[in-house]
Amino acid sequence: MSDIEGGCACGQVRFKITQPFLGVAVCHCRDCQKASGGGPGYMALALKSGFEVTKGEGKTYVSLTDSGTEIGRTFCAECGTPLWSEPPGVPFYPVKVGTLDDFTIEQPTLHLYTDSAPAWHLMHEGVPRVPKMPPPGGPRP
Ligand SMILES: [Zn+2]
Ligand SMILES: [Zn+2]
Repeated sequence: MSDIEGGCACGQVRFKITQPFLGVAVCHCRDCQKASGGGPGYMALALKSGFEVTKGEGKTYVSLTDSGTEIGRTFCAECGTPLWSEPPGVPFYPVKVGTLDDFTIEQPTLHLYTDSAPAWHLMHEGVPRVPKMPPPGGPRP
């Protein structure tokens, strides 16, 4: 594949992805709702080994997950665009699909944290849904 590039609204932070995404998760957790301004977070899962910041530096806000571990959420300190998350114990960064220069090719593959989705959040027909995090062995993006 050719590299996929992306960045924030003001252009201070740019990155590139050199390996195919593992999937696209649609996260309805409260933190993603706050970061998006109301909708769920649409996150393309980029392998850490194929992810590279090419310009600038994001600022990372750290909070606690359900299970009490730390998760980082990186955004542009200048324009405030949410960029990617840094969840513990996984080999990928969930990257906000809206930050990709071309995100028309990516399709959602899993809805998670649907327990905290309001009734008016639309969900895709035929895409698996899990109430919180996918259980071990459960559906994966
Ligand atoms: Zn910016
Ligand atoms: Zn979330």
